[in-house]
Amino acid sequence: MSGQRIQYMIPLQSLGEGVHNMEFTISKEFIELQNIENMLDAQLLVQVIFTKRAQIHTLELNMRGMVEMPCDRCLEPVQLTIKNSHECVIKVGANEEEFADTDDVICIDAHEKELDITHILYENLLLSLPLKKAHTQGKCNADVTAYIKEVKKTNQEKTDPRWDLLKNVIIN
Ligand SMILES: [Zn+2]
Repeated sequence: MSGQRIQYMIPLQSLGEGVHNMEFTISKEFIELQNIENMLDAQLLVQVIFTKRAQIHTLELNMRGMVEMPCDRCLEPVQLTIKNSHECVIKVGANEEEFADTDDVICIDAHEKELDITHILYENLLLSLPLKKAHTQGKCNADVTAYIKEVKKTNQEKTDPRWDLLKNVIIN
């Protein structure tokens, strides 16, 4: 890629009716452009099955690969496996108000030449992140976890003025 941005576009008009297979890659550049918080790196392959029909198209996405994020426990980068599938329907020339609020239905104008799927990819990537972003047990950076434990301990030992107040209440 000679400095050229990857375009996540489906060329609606130049494709004939039928099934079309496409592939897109998501890399660090995508994270930076979309300002995805806390994500350090990404290496994903998105397979797209686009079925074009006269009035209604379908879009099937299969996202596979890995992203790198700071570990919940030790804050060191951890690689997380991403596996996500999503299907949506594209209505051509449909009344947008009727469908505007559904995630799985995209309404486009009949004159639309291309469909930009950047936002669909963005949302699917965020949805596919695991709740717990951490190394497998025992694989965390030992120094950092020891340090965090130490900090937690010191914080607990520090006398909290609210505790003193409570002690007085109990004593009296
Ligand atoms: Zn960790």
